[in-house]
Amino acid sequence: MWRETTKHERNRLIFKDELDGFLPSRILDFHVHIWNEGVLPKGKMFQSGGPEITSYTFKELDKDLSECFPGRETSALCFGLPTIDGDHHRNNEYIANGCDNETFFGLRLLDPWRDDAESVRRDLEGGRLLGVKPYPVYPRKTNEATVEIPEMLPDWAMEVVNEVGGLVMLHIPRPGRLADPVNQRQLIELCTNYPRARIVLAHIGRAYFYKNVIGNLDALIELPNLYYDLAMVNHWEVMEYTFARVEPHKVLFGSDIPIALAPGKSVEINNSYTYVTPKPWSLSISDDHGKIPFTSFLYEELRAIKKAIERLGLGEEYVEGLFYRNGMNLLREVIDGMKSMTAAGAVAK
Ligand SMILES: [Zn+2]
Repeated sequence: MWRETTKHERNRLIFKDELDGFLPSRILDFHVHIWNEGVLPKGKMFQSGGPEITSYTFKELDKDLSECFPGRETSALCFGLPTIDGDHHRNNEYIANGCDNETFFGLRLLDPWRDDAESVRRDLEGGRLLGVKPYPVYPRKTNEATVEIPEMLPDWAMEVVNEVGGLVMLHIPRPGRLADPVNQRQLIELCTNYPRARIVLAHIGRAYFYKNVIGNLDALIELPNLYYDLAMVNHWEVMEYTFARVEPHKVLFGSDIPIALAPGKSVEINNSYTYVTPKPWSLSISDDHGKIPFTSFLYEELRAIKKAIERLGLGEEYVEGLFYRNGMNLLREVIDGMKSMTAAGAVAK
């Protein structure tokens, strides 16, 4: 079994000794990928942090959340697997049909080549889906390192998202990540030009090493509609820096499940980072000597969150907000806004 959950004795001990006394009673995971069979082309596998899988369903998520967070009430914001050759429409429909806006909430993949304003509007109006998940692969540039945020989020899409007050789960492009000046400028433009959209900077802007975050939050923290998710960040220094600066209600727990269920850790080395995993993965260095008894990326993230919070002396109120209340309030605002628009539209007709 590739999933590192409390089904394994060593994870059960970590949960009991380190996490059980720290985690609040309700957990909202703001960053989860879900895709059904038939989304990936036949025979194609997704390397999920090392293990290869063909799909990751709501049923699996439900089970995995309860086995990672025993005794907790869990919920999640879900979106598809962004790939060029995947069945985009099938994935978005699966997300929409699996989300009840109570336990599971959904975003739609946004591919500027396959979508238009009308298809995006149809999915967001009334709160069937709550926003969009763009990705740097979708602009289909020969050199992905040159992708710019507006190419992932064209104006016609942002106009709809802004109008309905929806979410954007933004994995920023470019090798410089959070430190990239083009990203910095375009993030500010995005948040300013579309003030009703709620932008989530996934993985704290992919700042997986300390130097990438230092000095690079300053220009962003004043933006009222920019939020920060912690998915796959295993680095307490990055979190401590972030928690000390960003307004508490903008910090959102997210995992990047299913990848985060795999055994491994993200580690900083010389102003850079890599993943270390027991199995070879295209993004990792692997422990081919079998020396390390790994736990999941998820538990390493939780340990880092706990350490940063303890070092800053932040209390239970902060922890409850980070793991549940901040995200849930944001989702409720989005849903209520979308519903009231639909109601107003119905009256006007
Ligand atoms: Zn992700």
